[in-house]
Amino acid sequence: MNKKIKNEMKIEFASKSTNEAFARIAVAAFVSQLDPTIEEIADIKTSVSEAVTNSIIHAYQNKDGIVTLRAILYDDEIEIEVSDTGSGIENIEEAKKPLFTTKGNLERSGMGFTIMENFMDELKVESIVGLGTKISMSKKIKKENDELIPIISPFYGPSENMKDEEQKETNIAKKSGQQKIIKLRRKENSIGNRRT
Ligand code: ATP
Ligand code: MG
Repeated sequence: MNKKIKNEMKIEFASKSTNEAFARIAVAAFVSQLDPTIEEIADIKTSVSEAVTNSIIHAYQNKDGIVTLRAILYDDEIEIEVSDTGSGIENIEEAKKPLFTTKGNLERSGMGFTIMENFMDELKVESIVGLGTKISMSKKIKKENDELIPIISPFYGPSENMKDEEQKETNIAKKSGQQKIIKLRRKENSIGNRRT
């Protein structure tokens, strides 16, 4: 099935360390259209920071260069690309390993790719030595209503204080012959799932 693009953007900025904050705030503002949780935004901001920092310090070695940041929004997903035209990566597999760094003496810990891999759903690294590097990553933004929680067992019937809407869903579920626990869509935002 083809995914429908909801919105897209592209920003080019100079490889200055101050622009790392600019990049992650720009992406956070852009993705807010998908109504992400605070945790989802935090994961995305951290991943963008890691990719942009890599371009600034590894690709351009803190010298002048242009970093390109693209983002595409789908209904329930964001795709992000961070690319540079810097040094490129000699061995991508090795570079992605936890704790691998070529700048150990400069207090880098070699965890950037590991963080991106863990905080995002997908990570792709393309690089050509002497030409540059492109990081593509994506993350699903869960819809508020997608989280299902068990409310009631059909064996015991609906509770007395069940709201109309819940009652309706229970009835539908009963009609459709569901035997196990009926799951209703979570309506309220719990603290851990607050929207911004
Ligand atoms: P940390 O991210 O923990 O500060 P790090 O940047 O060395 O340390 P990673 O982000 O995982 O760790 O990157 C691993 C290695 O991959 C880097 O040390 C560098 O050699 C190489 N690398 C990553 N991104 C780029 C890039 N855009 N251009 C050139 N080399 C890169
Ligand atoms: Mg890094």
